[in-house]
Amino acid sequence: MSNEVEKASKSHYNNGSETIFDKIIAKKIPADIIYEDEQCLAFNDVAPQAPVHFLIIPKKRIPMLDKCEEHDKDILGHLLLVAKKLGQSKLPKGYRLVINNGKEGCQSVYHLHLHILGGRQMNWPPG
Ligand code: ADP
Repeated sequence: MSNEVEKASKSHYNNGSETIFDKIIAKKIPADIIYEDEQCLAFNDVAPQAPVHFLIIPKKRIPMLDKCEEHDKDILGHLLLVAKKLGQSKLPKGYRLVINNGKEGCQSVYHLHLHILGGRQMNWPPG
């Protein structure tokens, strides 16, 4: 079992309680922040799975994609547009976007985040 799968198997939806990403948003713990605006924050992943691997998170506490509602469509669209902007500038040859949702989706931090990975040829299908 990979480290990520093991972490995900021990994590679970936490009723929307605080996660480590809230502490990063509040600047209570450090992160390698690469982009910030009123609605979101992007920072390099602490355990990169590709030469370039960063996360984009909403500042609003949304635990997972499954918990998104109709009224979240603006922030969801915004996250994708920021992914496009950062992806285009940092990874002009291409990149992959991933959202892990729930245990079998391998989610370990229950604060919605987009993974952006690149800097090498990505394979398909993912494991
Ligand atoms: P998985 O751990 O299976 O990738 P997620 O999709 O929930 O599950 O991803 C959480 C990501 O957050 C992981 O890639 C992990 O390395 C990253 N991460 C956890 N803590 C930090 C941190 N303090 N700073 C940056 N990245 C972090």
